[in-house]
Amino acid sequence: MRPTGPLHIGHLVGALENWIKLQDELDCYYCIVDWHALTTDYSDTQPIRGYVRQVALDWLSAGLDPDKCRIFVQSDVKEHAELHLLLSMIVPLPWLERVPTYKEQQEELRDRVLNTYGFLGYPLLQTADILVYKAGLVPVGEDQVPHIELSREIARRFNFTYSSVFPEPQAMLTPAPRLPGTDGRKMSKSYDNAIYLNDPLKVVRKKLNGMLTDPQRTHRHIPGNPDVCPVFATHDVFSDEATQRWAAQGCRTADIGCTDCKKSLMESLSARLAPIAERREALESEPGKVDEVLAQGAEVARATAAETLREVREAMKIQR
Ligand code: SF4
Repeated sequence: MRPTGPLHIGHLVGALENWIKLQDELDCYYCIVDWHALTTDYSDTQPIRGYVRQVALDWLSAGLDPDKCRIFVQSDVKEHAELHLLLSMIVPLPWLERVPTYKEQQEELRDRVLNTYGFLGYPLLQTADILVYKAGLVPVGEDQVPHIELSREIARRFNFTYSSVFPEPQAMLTPAPRLPGTDGRKMSKSYDNAIYLNDPLKVVRKKLNGMLTDPQRTHRHIPGNPDVCPVFATHDVFSDEATQRWAAQGCRTADIGCTDCKKSLMESLSARLAPIAERREALESEPGKVDEVLAQGAEVARATAAETLREVREAMKIQR
């Protein structure tokens, strides 16, 4: 995950809750990829360090457990950079140029100069992040599948050119529920419409109160349509089935008002966010805890990565 700011409830249901489940089932490596943040934010690097801590704190508060998985920062394991460099020798430029997000992001972020070597190499660095641990499965959303496909191609090319070192990683598709922001658009820091994991509950309540509803329901007595309402879309993700039924029926028959509906959503959200806030408070009361977790995670990750690099150098016959 790139450290580009505090995490919101979209990250919780779109990635983190799945990761928390996986930590009980598999040997998981979760990495805060600060070098990736540089590929687009190289001219304003100042916030990145703070974001790294914030993401680590969000992960731990959400329930990632350093006794069950490795939690670390990419730049603490220099082997990622070495593997990136070595793989760059065998990857043809068109493989990188045809990655869909390369052109899309250049279009989206027109205010930045992104015709850089680092930005083009983003998916290659991502490949190094995966292959350096010989990962079998990578939990990703649909939009990342072409990147994993590229990683597989690069692994095959390395194995064919030198000798078989890397398994081909598979994408493990994470179902991401539709969760709009408070204004109905995609939840995003840049739209200022997100509910953050570190928002105090009174801030969450205020954001919910201001949340867009079915625009046709201009008065309490007018029935609404939950299918077009961001409040209901959020109920759909955070409330139990009985509450969802109550909200949908009450909305369609005008038995409930939007204030009732939002109040009930607040209860569902509080139930999910309160344990996260509690864990955050406990972590914040232990100075040095986050650094300690990241240092321990990096040590284990480094040992695995160093062994892979030893095999890579041997395969390439550049071992000293
Ligand atoms: S009652 Fe609920 S679902 Fe219906 S418009 Fe209001 S907030 Fe949306």
